[in-house]
Amino acid sequence: MTWVDGAAGSPYGVHNLPYGVFRRSGGPPRIGVRIGDFVLDLHGAEAAELVLAGGALRGSSLNAFLALGRPQWTTVRHRIVELLSADGHRAEVAPLLVPLGEVDLVMPFEVADYVDFYSSEQHAGNVGQIFRPGQPALLPNWRHLPVGYHGRAGTVVVSGTPVVRPSGQRGTPDGPVFGPSTRLDIEAEVGFVVGVPSPLGARVGVEDFAAHVFGVVLVNDWSARDIQAWEYQPLGPFLGKSFATSVSPWVVPLEALADAWVPAPPQDPPVLDYLRDVPHLGLDLRLAVDWNGTRVSEPPFAQMYWTPAQQLTHLTVNGAALRTGDLYASGTVSGPRRDQVGSFLELTWGGAEPVTLSDGSTRTFLADGDTVTVTATAPGPDGRTVGLGEVAGTIEPARSGPS
Ligand code: CA
Repeated sequence: MTWVDGAAGSPYGVHNLPYGVFRRSGGPPRIGVRIGDFVLDLHGAEAAELVLAGGALRGSSLNAFLALGRPQWTTVRHRIVELLSADGHRAEVAPLLVPLGEVDLVMPFEVADYVDFYSSEQHAGNVGQIFRPGQPALLPNWRHLPVGYHGRAGTVVVSGTPVVRPSGQRGTPDGPVFGPSTRLDIEAEVGFVVGVPSPLGARVGVEDFAAHVFGVVLVNDWSARDIQAWEYQPLGPFLGKSFATSVSPWVVPLEALADAWVPAPPQDPPVLDYLRDVPHLGLDLRLAVDWNGTRVSEPPFAQMYWTPAQQLTHLTVNGAALRTGDLYASGTVSGPRRDQVGSFLELTWGGAEPVTLSDGSTRTFLADGDTVTVTATAPGPDGRTVGLGEVAGTIEPARSGPS
């Protein structure tokens, strides 16, 4: 229980406490934690010595705090729970609460490296059928390793940042043409934020996932399907993806998701030894995709074929180092039903089957001015719900030429 007004029954009660970075009235960015419809100013709390983290809560991003590691993450969390729960702290802590409506949420951490996986069997199968009709939907490697690529860390942006329609090459029967993408799409994903680095040359085992990963964000990996389809072979995604990747402003710590772990789908054939995670667990995160306010899909993260621990292990198995602020995303989350897919490519089956929105308009891919919002919840302790916030973005028209 918490003394904060309205927070006790909220998906953002003391069982959640996601971290973010906020600005108030154009002031400098400060680290905070969400409680109900307030932000607890952790910069102020550390300055007043209400919570101690060696100054890591007084930066302009979460990175210094992320680098502290699991024991200190837990210590700070327990202290914040105490401050927000015990009535005796109310007088000194209440002045540090800022109403959510009075803040702007900014990018919560500096992204070091960004990796995007491709771990939904349904998504990979659907895309295979749409992009490579008549051929096997899954390529031969897909069940043996979590397929992924290194993306562009510098264009990861916080929810609410406008997304300018990208221009690029697309293939036509008469050769390539250049222009604004006509098949702009979303990918609803879940991202994992790395706190503790690993040395170059070492590998991180599946059992060390929670020692390195701090928490979870929601991700929208905006994708230009026409640019992607022309450029992606043989080396994979490039400019069809790198123009923008949006993340939710709140990083939900793994501690808040302790009740959300569920058995992941069985893997057949068996994976190689280094990828074997026992127990083999995924997270029961329930995503929802709203297109201009119309709910079009509810992707189930629990059905992902590859687990977050397997993804982290595979990412480092060659000795690649982890850095504080690394972000790795799951890949599009798609379930078996059409109303469970995490991309409009699948929802409209390559644009062949338009969807009707609540205002009566129809869509295949994104129009200028469209807004897409991805939200998620997870089961929490004692029947409570954990909110993961939202990642939203609105499409702006393509720019007419070089700036
Ligand atoms: Ca993706």
